[in-house]
Amino acid sequence: MTDDEITVFWHDRMLDHEPPAGTYKYPASPIVAGEERHPDRRERVENIKAMLDHAFTEATGYESPERATREELERVHDPEYLDWLEAFCADGGGRIEDTTTGANEATFDAARVAAGAAMAAARAALDDGDSVPYALCRPSGHHAQPDRADGFCFLNNVAIAAEEALSRGADSVAIVDWDVHHGNGTQEAFYGREDVLFVSAHADHGSWHPEYHPQEGSLGEVGNGAGEGYTVNVPLPPGTGDRGYDALFERVVNPVVREYDPDLVLVSAGQDAGAADPNARNLATRDGFLRLGEHVRRLADGTADGRLALVQEGGYQQSHLSFATLGVFEGLLDRRVELEQFGTDDPFAWLDEPTELVDAWLDEAVDHHRTYWNLE
Ligand SMILES: [Zn+2]
Repeated sequence: MTDDEITVFWHDRMLDHEPPAGTYKYPASPIVAGEERHPDRRERVENIKAMLDHAFTEATGYESPERATREELERVHDPEYLDWLEAFCADGGGRIEDTTTGANEATFDAARVAAGAAMAAARAALDDGDSVPYALCRPSGHHAQPDRADGFCFLNNVAIAAEEALSRGADSVAIVDWDVHHGNGTQEAFYGREDVLFVSAHADHGSWHPEYHPQEGSLGEVGNGAGEGYTVNVPLPPGTGDRGYDALFERVVNPVVREYDPDLVLVSAGQDAGAADPNARNLATRDGFLRLGEHVRRLADGTADGRLALVQEGGYQQSHLSFATLGVFEGLLDRRVELEQFGTDDPFAWLDEPTELVDAWLDEAVDHHRTYWNLE
């Protein structure tokens, strides 16, 4: 037990993962003079750490996670895939065929540390409810499927954390994924199961690669067999902002998770719904993320005796990511921070969201998920 209000699981090894240069599939060419760096930069998590150290100096403590073991990884991932990934990285890595995902020689080890950080956060949530555990990890995990890397992800950190919680006596885990992209890998890992509820709200990007990413994230993907109804996808239109995300929680996420009544709430916390993110088109600001932090805190308090852990996913505008994540922590701790120069403002809060469009999409989601859940 410590007096810290936030426990950040952090390890410098996670900074050594570096995807090959070139954003997406367009390297420098006669019409693109500058070689753009891959958006998954180490500065993403370094900036969040700097913001936490500045804004929550007294409240934040750090713990160094152990690497996830082979056995722990195999709770989610196929052995053949793990063998391939380890060998691919040992050979120096590179881009994985024609996808946007790529590795270097450090990636497999960094990903094992990231998975270990997520597991440690889940254990902390089960063992000690006084501090909010946050796995500040990279590479991210929620696109990694049991048998393949996808979407800058290699090992599914939050899925491995959920399995760790189940192995330590939790009967059920709810994963709330507010990353702006569909958590397709997490969905795939638990698609046929009822002991893990998966709720994902995301841009309606569909399948971005027929082979590596067949899942759509559509309303109709609800799970199968015993898992039918326990995958809850909520596509959101471009421009969804603070009000829309609040309505999403009020109308869908909160009632579904309350009805499910898990032993642990895990959050796939990707702050790439932020207003300035280059990899998305949504408009959430520090205020909106504050509300998300409040929502998951109350959900965990109301259903899981406060057992809550957050796992870092995406977020690619490096400076806004730290403001957005500050908002999450302000909501989690129910405390606003006055920043020098910015006060409680978000310097990227520029645009209004299309309210009627967002509400129409939420109406459709509520209508669809009423088949399985008590929604109004
Ligand atoms: Zn994302």
